[in-house]
Amino acid sequence: MKILVVEDEKKIASFVRKGIEAQGFAVDVSGSGDEGFLLATTRPYDALVLDIMLPGKDGLSILRNLRQRKVPVPVILLTARSELNERLEGLNLGADDYLTKPFHIEELIARLHAVVRRAAGTSQSILAVDDLTMNLLTREVRRGQRALELTPREFLLLEHLMRSPGRVLTRIEICERVWDYNFDPGTNLVDVYVQRLRKKVDGDFPVKLIETIRGVGYRIRPVN
Ligand code: CA
Repeated sequence: MKILVVEDEKKIASFVRKGIEAQGFAVDVSGSGDEGFLLATTRPYDALVLDIMLPGKDGLSILRNLRQRKVPVPVILLTARSELNERLEGLNLGADDYLTKPFHIEELIARLHAVVRRAAGTSQSILAVDDLTMNLLTREVRRGQRALELTPREFLLLEHLMRSPGRVLTRIEICERVWDYNFDPGTNLVDVYVQRLRKKVDGDFPVKLIETIRGVGYRIRPVN
């Protein structure tokens, strides 16, 4: 999952970044409305955390312009207590949720999970491919009866693969979605992680689910 945070208060931006990263999500942070808008319209994000008062374009203008351009990305507004009118306007403009400062990071994380799940249209919390299942709420992963222990990054990588069975994810896509890195073709980071994940998911099981598409990337084998 990749989140864009547009917030000019450095302390809040940094605590939000740390909290989101601790979940194993990738995060971009921008302190300027203009840059934030540019990022939101040119890069794929799973959700935006948007402050209202910003240098450059303000949060509500960003939201209005995104919705005018039919960018459907879920948006959580950060508002001050005094900004009641802005909050209402934000919800009218198509914000998915809002949080009033100060807030607990756990609260923001829970809201992020909720808006992303809603946006994905997956009210169900379990992903399944063949006998491999992933519970997004409890974060349990099972292959048949066996529980698999995954690190947060491995979980995220597998989640991306399982969300679109059969679709090949390129190394670039994986790198951008699972890590916050611009792809460096010299690195074998993705391959190393996929091998690690494959050991746990496919290991000694007779049916192998994770497939390498040579020179392109990886996919989870579709059922049948
Ligand atoms: Ca601000």
